[in-house]
Amino acid sequence: MTTSDTAVHTQPFQAEVSELLHLMVHSVYSETDIFLRELVSNASDACDKLRYEAIASPSLLGEGDALKIRIIPNKAAGTLTIADNGIGMERQELIDHLGTIARSGTKAFVSKLKEAKDGLGLIGQFGVGFYSAFMVADKIVVVSRRAGESDVWTWTSSGGSGFEIARASDEEAARVTRGTEIVLHLKDDAKKYLEAFEIERIIGAYSDNILFPIELVPEEGEPRQINSASALWQRSKSELTADDYKKAYQQIASAFDDPAMTLHYRAEGRYSYAVLLFAPSTKPFDLFEPNRKGRVKLYVRRVFITDDADLLPGYLRFIRGVVDSEDLPLNISREMLQNNPQLAQIRKAVATRVVSELESLAEKDPENFAKIWDAFGAVLKEGIYEDFERREKLLALSRFTTTSGEKRSLKQVIADFKPNQTEIYYLVGDSIERLKSNPRLEAATARGIEVLLLSDPVDAFWTSMPSEFDGKPLKSLSQGDLNLDLIPRVDDNDEAKKDEPEADEAATIAVIKAALGERVSDVKASTRLTSSASCLVADSQGPSRELERILSQQNRGMKTKPILEINLRHPMVGAITKAQAGSKAVDDLSLLLLEQAQILDGELPEDPAAFAARLNRLVLQGLGA
Ligand code: ADP
Ligand code: MG
Repeated sequence: MTTSDTAVHTQPFQAEVSELLHLMVHSVYSETDIFLRELVSNASDACDKLRYEAIASPSLLGEGDALKIRIIPNKAAGTLTIADNGIGMERQELIDHLGTIARSGTKAFVSKLKEAKDGLGLIGQFGVGFYSAFMVADKIVVVSRRAGESDVWTWTSSGGSGFEIARASDEEAARVTRGTEIVLHLKDDAKKYLEAFEIERIIGAYSDNILFPIELVPEEGEPRQINSASALWQRSKSELTADDYKKAYQQIASAFDDPAMTLHYRAEGRYSYAVLLFAPSTKPFDLFEPNRKGRVKLYVRRVFITDDADLLPGYLRFIRGVVDSEDLPLNISREMLQNNPQLAQIRKAVATRVVSELESLAEKDPENFAKIWDAFGAVLKEGIYEDFERREKLLALSRFTTTSGEKRSLKQVIADFKPNQTEIYYLVGDSIERLKSNPRLEAATARGIEVLLLSDPVDAFWTSMPSEFDGKPLKSLSQGDLNLDLIPRVDDNDEAKKDEPEADEAATIAVIKAALGERVSDVKASTRLTSSASCLVADSQGPSRELERILSQQNRGMKTKPILEINLRHPMVGAITKAQAGSKAVDDLSLLLLEQAQILDGELPEDPAAFAARLNRLVLQGLGA
C-alpha cells in the first residue's frame, strides 16, 4: 500500500457545486422531504446498473443477496443511512460523480436559482439530486464498494468548498460488501426524518413505484418492506387511479408537476410491450440542449436496460415514461439498440400513438393540451420539418398566436377566412410584440385577414419549406409577391382607396433603384403596405430573411440581397418623384427608405454614422436651417 492510499485527500468542488451547496445549506426551502426521494432514486439507479452489467457478467451479482435499498435511522447517533447493494463507486467515480455536476440542465438550473427571487421554490420543481441531502444534513459520509472490487472508499463532506476521499476503515469495509452507504448526519431541525412514520410517509408519496424493495430497518424489531415495488405499467388500467399515475410519473420522471397527459396501454400481437408515457405540464431546464435526447426508459421484462434508446423522435423528447418489451433479448447491446428491427417497429408505433393521443387530448381536454403546447409547442414544431409522414397531423396540433391576439389552430384560422381568401398568411420575427407593428401586415390588416405571428426560432425553419394545410398553402407576408386584390378591404381609409397611385410608378422606381445600386436586388411597388413607406422582402425562391438571419448568427449560409418594396402612396416616395433624378435629395431619401426598412426589421443600417448624418441633413433642410 502506498502512502497516497492511506492518506486523506481533500478535493475542491467544481464551482457550480459549491454554489449549489451554498444554496442548499442555507436553504429556507420548507419541502425538504425530496432529499429522500433523490437518494432512493440514486440507489435504485445503482441497482438497475448492476442488474444490467450482470447480464454480461453474472458473477458481479454473486449468490443470494437480492438487490435492495435499506433505510436505517439511528436516533442515538442522529444519523439516517440510505444503503444499496447496487453497482457502487470506485475512488475516481466518487470524485467525478459527487464533486461535479454532470447532469445536463443543472448548470442552467443553478444560474436560474441564483437570479430568481423565489429561487428555492424551483428546487421542488427540479430536484437537484444527491446535493439536496445538504438541506437536511450538515455532514455526509458516503462509503462505497464497486461491484466486484476489493477496495472500499469513503467520501466525506460538510457542504463547504470541498470533500475528503479516504480508504474505508476495516469496519466500514466489512459492512459495505457491495454498493453504497450514505450516512446523513442530520441537522437539528431535520431530526424528524428519524421517525419511522415520516420515512414511510415520504416513501409512500414519492418512491412507491421503485422496482426494488425498500426496507426500513428500525432500531428495534425486524426490517420491513415499505414500498409496493410493482411495475405499475404492467398492471391493468382499471386498477389504477389518477393519483397512482401522478405518483408514477413523478417517480419515473423525477418530476414534481402533474402530468398533463397520461398514455398507458399494452401492445399485443407480433410484438408485445407495455407503454406508460406522460407529458409534463411544465418545461424542464434542459429542453433546448443541443443533443435533443429523449429519456423514455427501455425495460425488457421488467429489467431496466437504458434511457438512451431514442424510443421517440427528437421532437417528442419532452415525453417521459417507460416502454417494457416482452420479446427483446435481455442482453441487447448498444449497437443492437440502433439497428434492431423490432425496436424500430416499436419506435414507429409508439410515436404514432403519442401523436394521436395528443390529438385526442387537444379535442377532449383543451386546457391540459394548452399546457403542453405552451411548454413544448416550440419542440413539437420541429416535427413539422423533420417528420414528413406526420406533418399534417402536427400542423393540425399546432396553436399559433395570430393578429386576433389569441392562440388559434389552423382549422380555426381557415374557418374565419375572408371572402376570396385562399392562402394562410404568416409573418416570422423575433417577438410577437415586434411582429404586431410590422408594416408588412398593413395590407392584410386593411382587409381584416388573420395572420399567424411566428416568433419561435424553429418557425424560421419549418416555414422555409413549402407547406399547406387542408389544401391551403401557407404564405409568408415577407417573401415573394403578394396579391390580396381579390379580398375586399374592410377599412375606410379614403386615401388608401384610390386605385391609381399618383406617382409615375416606373420612373420613380427606376430613380430609387439607381440611387440604391448594389444594395438591393430589386425595387418594387408594394402591395402589402398601406401606411408605412417601405419594407424589405425576400425572393420567393430563396430562404426567408428570418432564416438567413438565424443562419448567419451561427455563421452558416450566406446573405442574399433583399428586395425593397415601396409604398407609392407615401409622401416620402412622392418627394422622390418630385425631386430631380440624380440629385443629392433623391439619394438621401432613397437610402432612408432602405435604412428605415432595416431598422423596422431589427437590423442596423449598413453605415449607422452615414445614416445619422443623412437624417440630420434632411431634418435641418426641412426646418429651413
Ligand atoms: P443524477 O442521479 O441525476 O445523475 P445525482 O446528483 O443524484 O444526479 O447523482 C450524481 C451521480 O452520482 C449519479 O449519476 C451516480 O453516478 C452517482 N451516484 C449517486 N448515488 C449513487 C449510488 N447510491 N450508487 C452509485 N452511484 C451513485
Ligand atoms: Mg439522482
